[in-house]
Amino acid sequence: MKDLAFTAPELFIPGVVAPDRREQPAWWFAFQRARVLVDASAETWGLPCCLDLTEHGLTVVRRQYLGSYAGRHCFSAEVDEKSVAPAGWAFLGLRELFGRCDEMLVALAGRAFQIMDWDRNHQYCGRCGTPTVARADERARACPGCGHVSYPRVSPAIMILVTRGRELLLARKPSFPPDRYSALAGFVEPGERLEDTAIRETREEVGVEIRDLRYFGSQPWPFPHSLMIAFTAGYAGGDVRPDGVEIEEARWFDPEHLPRLPPPISISRRLIDTTAAALIARYPK
Ligand SMILES: [Zn+2]
Repeated sequence: MKDLAFTAPELFIPGVVAPDRREQPAWWFAFQRARVLVDASAETWGLPCCLDLTEHGLTVVRRQYLGSYAGRHCFSAEVDEKSVAPAGWAFLGLRELFGRCDEMLVALAGRAFQIMDWDRNHQYCGRCGTPTVARADERARACPGCGHVSYPRVSPAIMILVTRGRELLLARKPSFPPDRYSALAGFVEPGERLEDTAIRETREEVGVEIRDLRYFGSQPWPFPHSLMIAFTAGYAGGDVRPDGVEIEEARWFDPEHLPRLPPPISISRRLIDTTAAALIARYPK
């Protein structure tokens, strides 16, 4: 299974201004809070593909043009809280879509959620309180009063998988399901390079020093607006000492005896699986 990363950018052309005329049905990513409307009646779930959501008896509060996917226009929309899903349809959490919907549509739903949520939260200027206006030349809302411009926020977070010989370091957050472990992760702070975040987070969370940071890959994570940037790192020193707050337990694992891991949709799982396979190949028993 592929992950949430957008796998075929050539099929999606982003845009900010909706076409004047729409004669073909469009894809609609219709949200009530953080839940998106899906047709859950068939084995593969579908999303609304129609001229307008009002066809389904829904009241749209705001809509945003996203661009076109495989020649079809795409919109995100915020649906009135009182709107009821049509028969056979349901408003479901984005995570529930994985493995049940076309994966490109799942990736687009993540993008749609972030645009919809940002638009909803920036109707007024954060500096002076004047109602904002959407810009036509870029994804932004400008304040006609003071000129302040808001852009959709993306919060970079890094993930680090530390290895020591054949072993890899995995940790548990108190919020994880029982027995689940994952790589270390943390948000980038203002002024930091990604390398600085990796060094700081590893030191703070488990007391370990790292070296040879290597980029692995990245994944948009729309809960609510993160971008996960994953690295592997070599062990450079220190005893594993969980901080007891962010991390309740951390230890070295043999790649052939791993604990319960995050689900396959996450980049953390891909990072751990790929690294474990490489360690087994490099250090045969
Ligand atoms: Zn303003």
